[in-house]
Order: sequence, then C-alpha cells, then structure tokens
Amino acid sequence: MSQSIYTHDTIYIPPREEGSAPLEVALGCSWGQCTFCDFARDAFRILPRNKILENIEGLSRLFPDKERVFFLGENAFVLRADVLLDLFAQVRKKMPSVETFAMYARADDVLSKSAAELESLRIAGLDALHIGVESGSDSILAERKKGLTAQQMLEAFRLLELAGIDYHLTVVLGLGGKAYSRLHAIETARLLNKTHPRSIWCLKLAIFDGTPLSRECKAGTFAPMEPLDVLAELRLLLQNLTVTDCIFEDTTVLDTYTLQGDLPGQKDLLLRAIDRLLSTHAVL
Ligand code: SF4
Repeated sequence: MSQSIYTHDTIYIPPREEGSAPLEVALGCSWGQCTFCDFARDAFRILPRNKILENIEGLSRLFPDKERVFFLGENAFVLRADVLLDLFAQVRKKMPSVETFAMYARADDVLSKSAAELESLRIAGLDALHIGVESGSDSILAERKKGLTAQQMLEAFRLLELAGIDYHLTVVLGLGGKAYSRLHAIETARLLNKTHPRSIWCLKLAIFDGTPLSRECKAGTFAPMEPLDVLAELRLLLQNLTVTDCIFEDTTVLDTYTLQGDLPGQKDLLLRAIDRLLSTHAVL
C-alpha cells in the first residue's frame, strides 16, 4: 500500500510532525536553485488531482484515526490557496478525524497569498508551516542563491502571525563557511529575534555530491567548517537569541548528538551543554 502512495522508499518529514499522516501532493521544490540543496533528487511537479485523491484513499486505510496530515513536497505550500482548500476538504471526507494540516513552505509561497486566503486556510485547518530560513544574512542568502532576503522572510512571518498560523524555522549551520561563520550566527540571531516561531531547528550543512556548493568546495572557493567550529557557531547563535516560547534543537551536533530545550527557560542549560561538548571534544 505505502509503495503506491509514495514515490520514494524514504519519506522526509520534520521531527515535530512525526505523528502526522504524510500525504504526497508534490515532488521537489519549485525554486530548486539553492546551491547547497540536493534538489536534483526530484524535478518539481505537483501531482495530478486524481493521483492525490488516490493517495488520500490509500492514506485513509493506512492511518484511519490520524488527526493531522502533513502534505509532502519540498514546498507544498506553493499550491494555490483554492487548491489547498479543496484538498483539505477531500482529506476530511475520507479521514473525518483529521483536524489540522501542516507542510513545508518557502517564504515567497506565503507572500504570494493574500491575508484573506491565509485566514481561510487557517480556518480550514492549516495549523503550521515549516520554513527554511537557512541564514539571516542577506549576503549569505544571495551567495547560496536562496532567492529571498531576510526582510521578505520577516514579512511572510508577520502575515502568518496575523492569520494565526504557526511556523517552525530551520537554520543551516556552517552555511557561511569558515569565512563568514560569525556573520552567519549574528545575523541569523538578529532575524530570528524578530520572529515568533514555535521551534527553531538547526542542521549542520551537508555537502551533497553534484550540487553547485560541492563544486565550490572542490574549486577551493568555499571552505566547509570542522564540526567543532560549527558547534562554536551554534553557541554564538544561541547566545544571541532572545526568542520566547520556542523549542530550540540541533539534531546534528558533532554528527552524533541532539540538543533540545525550551527558550528562554533552558537557554543556560543548553549553553552549558555546548560548553561541555566543546571542552571535551577539543582535547580529544
Ligand atoms: S528552497 Fe529549500 S528545497 Fe528549495 S532549493 Fe532551496 S533549500 Fe532546496
């Protein structure tokens, strides 16, 4: 059954959505230009409506009692608001226990919708979007071809807050390389401090073969950071964060550990844990 409703054997959903039923509605990313992203895995496409309806049918048999559905696709929120509203209704027909929906989005997918559309999506059950900030530095965003500025992202988050839709943000540690590590940490904290995300998920930059960034590494124009330097960058980011009511986590610490805590209450605890790791591993 699962083979017929998912294109790939492995499905990627954010850790916070592990309890959601994953519904494939799109493949790949409509932007697909970030130089660090393994976007070549799938060309972008929105599945035909009849295939999505088939997937909903299959999902209802696999997860008859789920209360939340996660729409798969690197930025499924690129779908038009009327299309999403129709799909929410189709899910509810087959899975009456479903109450909420979540999906990945780019900030410009939010900006392309009106305040009224965002409001109707929230009323129809859209509960949360998972959005990659990657960096708060405009120069790093431009260099890595994210196609968005920090200001555009802030505007998108403001619209979501007005509509009452939660958002979870992702940051890529090491995205500035050795040369811009400090700038990356400080500017990212500055951006995040103007937002109200439910969670901030930090991930260490991975260099995927075949990406433009891997070619930059080979050419010597981008110097990736050592794991301990990335950890020091995480510390600087966290130290400068003033966000409230937010879960902070890094699932890639030294490629081995996960750090997680509530901000601001557990900030000192997290910083002490990072300091312990830095001192322990520095002497190994
Ligand atoms: S927006 Fe996200 S999924 Fe799309 S190319 Fe950039 S990093 Fe990859």
